[in-house]
Amino acid sequence: MKTIKNLLSTAALIGLTATAFAQTTPKKPKVLFIGIDGVRSDALVQANTPNIDTLMAHGLYTFDSWHCGQTSSGASWSTMMTGVWEAKHQVTNNSYTNPNFANYPYFPKRAKECLPNLKAIQIITWDPMNDPTNSNNAAGFVFNSGFNQSIDAGSHGQGAVTAAAKIQLSDPNLDVLFIHYDETDATGHSSGFNPNNAQYMNAIQDVDQQIGEVLAKLYQRPTYNQEDWLIMLTTDHGGIGTTHGGQSNTERHIWWVASGPSVPHLEITGPDPGSYYMSANPVDTTLLRSTPVLTDIAVTALAHLLKGTACENPQTNPSWNLDGKSWLLADTSTEHPTYIEDVNNAAIELGIFPNPNNGAFKVAFKDITGEISISIVNVNGAVSQSKKVKANTGLTVVPFDLTALPKGLYMMQVTNNGKQTSRKIVLQ
Ligand SMILES: [Zn+2]
Repeated sequence: MKTIKNLLSTAALIGLTATAFAQTTPKKPKVLFIGIDGVRSDALVQANTPNIDTLMAHGLYTFDSWHCGQTSSGASWSTMMTGVWEAKHQVTNNSYTNPNFANYPYFPKRAKECLPNLKAIQIITWDPMNDPTNSNNAAGFVFNSGFNQSIDAGSHGQGAVTAAAKIQLSDPNLDVLFIHYDETDATGHSSGFNPNNAQYMNAIQDVDQQIGEVLAKLYQRPTYNQEDWLIMLTTDHGGIGTTHGGQSNTERHIWWVASGPSVPHLEITGPDPGSYYMSANPVDTTLLRSTPVLTDIAVTALAHLLKGTACENPQTNPSWNLDGKSWLLADTSTEHPTYIEDVNNAAIELGIFPNPNNGAFKVAFKDITGEISISIVNVNGAVSQSKKVKANTGLTVVPFDLTALPKGLYMMQVTNNGKQTSRKIVLQ
């Protein structure tokens, strides 16, 4: 882990380099955080989402983030916004009965300690998250987010969220915008959180179109080239049947995306670090340090907003006491050694879901043609299994069952139209 001393010396070095060579002003870090409620990881993989795909094609993403807390919305969004687990922020359900936001505020409030003029706006469709006076707040929830509210779009639908976001994105002084789309969760509750449910998949695809409009407005900002936007896209939980809140894999298995000019192009995957609510699968605190989880969202946003300032590293600031980690720090490779795939130079873009896995997994390809040849090779170089399939128009999903093989590391070698790509697969 990078120490504060090292970070300061790095900052000093960057300052020196800037003085010596550059006449240009550093681009101002800003954050667009888009929350899509209740989107299962496997559903996002299969949905037709060109706008989200474009962010992934240039950014850092994971389809293998595991929820370690209660998979209710209130608990999950509180974890993402504060960068700490429920033991600290104390929101374990949707009633926000006794939150500890005084000690663990939302990330814009923390950023304002260093950047007092930071302008942060949120546009929320789900009342319990935004309104300190609603009925869920009978116990006296002190709203302590650091955000200013733009509109309460709750009853107006996602078009209203997008319209309000576009108005905010016209403001040159805007630094942080959080917008929340809830239609996906509402559709899951009414007809099922399931990739085989067309209504649920349509809701995901509708949100993707809204995101396309928001991103178009962002890229049109007259000041865009002087700014360094971190675009974060997350969900809060998955679902099972028409509900969520429990500890099943389809509720816990989630995803997130980070994209922007200073974000590396990487796929990150990690083993399930366990849950604070499963006695059979308790949290492994070592794994938590190397696998993508919800608490990383706020810390990654803070690391981005505070870069170039004299403020302490949010990941190690003792008075903030955050649980998450940033995926943007320069020492990412040493901090998260095992499961990062550099997909910059991948000849064939593909996804492996999940990875690591128990031997049962799927490999997904989008928009390729011709025959795909896939071989799974063990550490001794012996082929354990191979398949040849014809690519579909759009999405091609190839299931594998290696559950009978010994646990450990395997390489997957893929050939398509004369191009080759290799990826690690971890069986555990
Ligand atoms: Zn939710």
